[in-house]
Amino acid sequence: MGYYNFNAGPGALPAEVLQEAQAELRSFQGTGTSVMEISHRSKAYEAIHYEAQQLIKDLMGLSSEYEVLFLHGGASLQFSMVPLNFLTEGKTAGYVHCGTWSGKAWKEAKKLGKTTLLASGVDSGFKKMPDLSQLSIPDHTAYVHVISNETIDGIQYHSFPDTGDVPLIADMSSDIFSRPVDPSPFSYIYAGAQKNLGPAGVTIAIIHRSLLELIPETLPDILSYRTHVKHGSLYNTPPVFSVYMVNLVLKWLVRQGGVEGMAVRNQQKAKLLYDVLDHSEGFYEGLAHKESRSLMNVTFRTCSSELENKLLGELEQEGFMGLKGHRDAGHLRASIYNAVPYTHCQALGDFLIDFQRRNG
Ligand code: PMP
Repeated sequence: MGYYNFNAGPGALPAEVLQEAQAELRSFQGTGTSVMEISHRSKAYEAIHYEAQQLIKDLMGLSSEYEVLFLHGGASLQFSMVPLNFLTEGKTAGYVHCGTWSGKAWKEAKKLGKTTLLASGVDSGFKKMPDLSQLSIPDHTAYVHVISNETIDGIQYHSFPDTGDVPLIADMSSDIFSRPVDPSPFSYIYAGAQKNLGPAGVTIAIIHRSLLELIPETLPDILSYRTHVKHGSLYNTPPVFSVYMVNLVLKWLVRQGGVEGMAVRNQQKAKLLYDVLDHSEGFYEGLAHKESRSLMNVTFRTCSSELENKLLGELEQEGFMGLKGHRDAGHLRASIYNAVPYTHCQALGDFLIDFQRRNG
């Protein structure tokens, strides 16, 4: 029996990367210690740290006006840090509510200042992304906050709004580096590492320098992006092992042809699974509207809850991990992040077809 990792996060890591980490776990670069046991101020750690920052800049095509940070606290801390830093006196923060995570981000901002709901997907039951092509942004908007991929609902933006001079901020936790994205419209991007970039414990943040001057002096140092930029993201001890793993994953990404290479593979993987659903004559049903379908999280259901339980049981037995959907959205979800191989999607697709043949 094989093992197929479709976990939603923490999710699959490239097998190659795990092998590399294993090989030097006890003795990093022949030093006789693991990377977890050396100072974050050492030359050896600094090399990993700065190299990872540079790889992110290169892979994303960031101009020199952007800084890359490694933060603690998960993407969830960013839901609070964003308004703490950028929702300044007399301004209102604009939120797009398109699913569970953007709802959480909005909820935190409301505790910290004035917000306005710019678009909502609530009427569609979060099955499609709200259209942002005609977005009207009121005066005195501090920033516009969007989520590129709603992990739980399985919906994704395939283009982003033009917000003019108003800073555009995006949570890209579940699709960063899965496809090319022009970073220039964004002022701030953040992403928890544990889906496409590495293990949990580090959040990647990309900040345009122009935002730094907006940050109130009164913020505690640790919560201010200015502090982290000033110290090259070494203000306090970074999550060294997570950053080390992110560094290895980034190099793996380069070997795969960068975000362009990933995008081709991710398209193929998602197409394979959505085709199985679409050709099942109603036995399976994709939950997301076609135009918003996520290439990272394929959410679907079967025609009856009895069959769904049977399917989940069989999937588990056959080594397919993480297919049970999130408790908020229910049903089934296959998370097919960058590190999930095409062959694993093929195995899942074949299994679903066979299950239909036996139970349809
Ligand atoms: N945003 C998105 C899009 C997510 O998928 C998640 C986690 N699944 C979060 C935020 C929260 O991340 P964390 O658990 O790292 O705080």
